Amino acid sequence: MIRICHMYPDLLNLYGDCGNITAFVKRCQWRSISVSVQEVSLNDRVNLREQDFIFFGGGSDRELKLIAADLTKRKEELIEAINDGLVILAICGGYQLLGHYYLARDGEKIYGLGLMDFYTQAGSRRLVGDVVIEMSIDGLPVKVAGFENHSGYTYLGSCQPLGQVLSGNGNNGKDGLEGACYRNVFCSYLHGPLLPKNARLTDHLIKLAMKKSGDNSQLRPLETELEDQACQVVLDRLGFKKITR
Ligand code: GLN
Repeated sequence: MIRICHMYPDLLNLYGDCGNITAFVKRCQWRSISVSVQEVSLNDRVNLREQDFIFFGGGSDRELKLIAADLTKRKEELIEAINDGLVILAICGGYQLLGHYYLARDGEKIYGLGLMDFYTQAGSRRLVGDVVIEMSIDGLPVKVAGFENHSGYTYLGSCQPLGQVLSGNGNNGKDGLEGACYRNVFCSYLHGPLLPKNARLTDHLIKLAMKKSGDNSQLRPLETELEDQACQVVLDRLGFKKITR
């Protein structure tokens, strides 16, 4: 069984990011892979070491301020779990909370966990629109599409980006990078939600979470044509050629 922990679903659910949990669960169920989903919010008790996949959605500056102190109490558990292969997907505000800090537009510095080497500060304009990036999955280049809407500009230190921006802004609209990754932690500004639009990325996370759960079996493929339609809609809108298999 893959144990899923949905962090702060009542607070971090901007732009339907809970759809990422739905996509992950459905693509497991279509393969008869059993999953459990535990929702965790402020002050809830949970053993993060026992989880295989943890999801953080996006949230406004107000929610990030509410969550930061609670999340800090869980830092040591998260570090241990990440070192043990825990898979994390963190979107936008959830992404920002995993770095050193987020300097909000009102001048307040929201301290993150510092799990990854990056910081965020509110920029001069919101970065909004369709985004296409190219990332590497199992050594192969894969186009990933989504929608961004953030005022925070993120600057990476030693951690790797999730991918290179092909269209849109990404982390800060300047360095051509989008998201961040470290071990099995994947961060992105892409809403959409991200996973329903990008089946390959979803399946990649499922494979990693299966391994964390102790299941090293092969992941049965699903119908690839259907999977690309959501991503292709964005690619078409932005003039990219059809995804080739
Ligand atoms: N409040 C953060 C920002 O504006 C995150 C927004 C979000 O999660 N979409 O950058």
